[in-house]
Amino acid sequence: MIRLVRAYSTKFSLKSGSKTISKAQECVQSIHPTTPARTRFAPSPTGYLHLGSLRTALYNYLLAKNTGGQFLLRLEDTDQNRLVEDAEQNIYDSLKWCNIEIDEGPNEGGEFGPYRQSDRTEIYNKYIQILLDKGLAYYCTCSKERLHNLRESASLLKPPTTVTYDRKCLSQANAPHAQSIIRFKSPEKYESFHDLVHGTMNLQPQVNYSDRRYDDIVLMKSDGLPTYHFANVVDDHLMKITHVIRGEEWLPSTPKHIALYRAFGWDPPKFAHIPLLTSLEDKKLSKRQGDIGILSMREKGILPESIINFVALFGWSPPRETPGVSSSESMTMDQLISSFSLDHLTKGNAKVNDSKLYHFNKFHLGEAVKSPKRLAALTEEHFPTFLQETGINDKELLRKILQYLGPSLTNLNEIESIHSYIYSPPQYSSPVPKQTELILPQLLCLPAEDFNQNVKVIMDNSHLTKKQVFQAVRFALSGGISGLSLPLLIELLGATEYKKRLQSAIDFISKSA
Ligand SMILES: [Zn+2]
Repeated sequence: MIRLVRAYSTKFSLKSGSKTISKAQECVQSIHPTTPARTRFAPSPTGYLHLGSLRTALYNYLLAKNTGGQFLLRLEDTDQNRLVEDAEQNIYDSLKWCNIEIDEGPNEGGEFGPYRQSDRTEIYNKYIQILLDKGLAYYCTCSKERLHNLRESASLLKPPTTVTYDRKCLSQANAPHAQSIIRFKSPEKYESFHDLVHGTMNLQPQVNYSDRRYDDIVLMKSDGLPTYHFANVVDDHLMKITHVIRGEEWLPSTPKHIALYRAFGWDPPKFAHIPLLTSLEDKKLSKRQGDIGILSMREKGILPESIINFVALFGWSPPRETPGVSSSESMTMDQLISSFSLDHLTKGNAKVNDSKLYHFNKFHLGEAVKSPKRLAALTEEHFPTFLQETGINDKELLRKILQYLGPSLTNLNEIESIHSYIYSPPQYSSPVPKQTELILPQLLCLPAEDFNQNVKVIMDNSHLTKKQVFQAVRFALSGGISGLSLPLLIELLGATEYKKRLQSAIDFISKSA
């Protein structure tokens, strides 16, 4: 999930430090790992999987698969108040539908489990004790009112500060009680770090030296559960995560996370913070755009291949095979896996353009129906909608429609919304293409089977053009809607229905004359 920076995360002044390597060096020096990467997707089951979180999952998956490593799913479910009942199942279903395979996770198991944070309480208790023993964590027994007043007074300071806690409990240790929390004793200064997308970052909280406050984040909450920051660091270390790809909104938290790794004496993983998703107008995605559950796109007739292709390009671009010529952006999962590289992550906000999604969907529909296996799966998947919309209980018909029509569809639902003439009588309306009244009666006398031969016969016997014959037949069979080649449409209709429609069109023309 894209998490917003929580209340206990403080605001930082974002200042990018000086680059350690020159631009020329950057071009030749690859940051892409040469050994298997272990990556994770760590959503909170607090909502449905949407575009932004799918992208995070996908990039981590692509990195693991490209390098021959492992992709983990870890459920960060320690914020018990925000859990949504069916969100966990939605995460599994969405990833499965998108063909993102989990190597280790709550259902898959693995040697570094459990993979659900609510099952790891003992682990967090053990590791918090290590920091307490080292004097790098401490109990805070301050009342809610006191902490509230500290936040209020901090907001009034001039110059302002971005951190609020005054460390009272570090100097006056009181016996912990049931409502105590445990805080991190943050370092005087955070170390600068290297982000794989942004380069060297030096992010420090802003403080007011006349009323010094500290960035002593909460590690354990009063309910005995760890905070995101703490659990995340402990888990990533114990699960041997090598690379963390996550949204840019996590950049301000990264110095704290690195400080936590250092407190334990651990090496942090490599971080890549990917840009936010925005609308074409460069605004943060609206609720409608950003929060669309991935599975709701299935109901819109969109293929998972298209969504994967679509989100893959939000912050990554395929390498150019020929310099100066951009590569095709239409890619399958296998192609994405083989060409994914951290070297081609892009900075700057990733703009979400719905029309591109439909462009990809048309491409992938055309590809999908070429594979008998994929065609069969798509038929199964779309059949309930087809049956419900048309009342026709004929899977084989749907399979044929998909096979013939697939390459010209923008989404699967167009089978019912645009191409209903395939299975129900077409709607005729004026204007009727010129010469139709001359062409159709001739076709009625010819056998249905060899359409191209029929066209030839008509052309040989008259001054009619091929285009005129085609337009006339299309009018009769579909009411003028294109998308399916006429021989294929005739095959789908069958000889009887074909002739019936020729006659219906003739009747329509004579009635409207
Ligand atoms: Zn305190």
